[in-house]
Amino acid sequence: MMPLLSWFWENHRDLPWRKDRTPYSTWISEAMLQQTRVATVLDYYPRFLKRFPDPSSLAKAKEDEVFKLWEGLGYYSRARNLMKGAAYICEHFEGKLPETPDLLIHIPGIGPYMAGAIASQAFDVPVPAVDGNCIRIYCRLHALPLVPSEKSTYNEIYSRVEKDIPKDNPGDFNEALMDLGSLICTPKSPRCSICPLADSCSANLLGKQEDFPLKKPKKETPTEEHTILKIYIGNKILVRKRPDTGLLAGLFELIDLPGTLSHSEVENWLCENLLSDDSAFAEESDSAVSADIRVIGNARHIFSHLKWNMLGYEIHIDSKAGSSADTEAVKKIAAKTKKLGKLVGPKEYASLAFASAIRAYR
Ligand code: SF4
Repeated sequence: MMPLLSWFWENHRDLPWRKDRTPYSTWISEAMLQQTRVATVLDYYPRFLKRFPDPSSLAKAKEDEVFKLWEGLGYYSRARNLMKGAAYICEHFEGKLPETPDLLIHIPGIGPYMAGAIASQAFDVPVPAVDGNCIRIYCRLHALPLVPSEKSTYNEIYSRVEKDIPKDNPGDFNEALMDLGSLICTPKSPRCSICPLADSCSANLLGKQEDFPLKKPKKETPTEEHTILKIYIGNKILVRKRPDTGLLAGLFELIDLPGTLSHSEVENWLCENLLSDDSAFAEESDSAVSADIRVIGNARHIFSHLKWNMLGYEIHIDSKAGSSADTEAVKKIAAKTKKLGKLVGPKEYASLAFASAIRAYR
């Protein structure tokens, strides 16, 4: 495996978390990199470390502030786990991450891969960090017809990596596998002609690189239709916080209704929930308030297990003539929003952590 390390030392990516590495910074970068591309993490990592430079500052943080810094990275359970993990480290390990995988794995949010990555990269402990890249490379190297998601595959690859990992530079070895998997031994069209392992790779010698590992037949991802309403009442916007558990837990969102609602169905919903009748929609009416509904477009968000197709509307409800009676009428409508969420001004709106699924409508 020496050619792999030599290749890594010459070609490794110059990433911020590889400079001035500490156990804490390794943990934060590994958490951010789970399910997220390197290019996306580059912006978030320095901001997060600056605001929360150690476990103790993160343990004391407010969830809303952490979520705001995390906004756009997705999979917010990782941010929540980092907070829980930081509290655990402060309570059980005097504010410092422990060295061995056996102890690291007790920390909320740290699984076998991350424990291996932290122990090897930050403490030079020779333990594997087996992720999807590593499984793909080893299946190809040894022409192993294994399904990546199966536990037996993980165990098989773990024991093979354990035999290969050097006592010197174990962290570099694990990172070399990560870089090789991201840059050279990619899922489709691996670049075998420039791979440092080409001469010893069974899949390459057989000319069957893409046959390994085995592919599991894909299940159709379920799709949900949503209608998103961005409702302005005067200059305030109606938002609501999602429940503390489940999809996008604890994040803010706009009004989200099931199904794809037509313009007239949105009018009906407004009449049932905020306006007393439909006179606000007519220009020539005695209504003290006006309501304007505009389509702001379609958007789609793909979660790991679910797709959302969304149609967004922007709605402006305001007083018609600006007289005090008209303003009173708008205040009555604003009072009705309490059962739906809360009204916030532009400054507070900008400070809230929103579900990235509705980013198109922010
Ligand atoms: S030779 Fe090709 S298939 Fe084998 S490890 Fe290298 S890139 Fe992957």
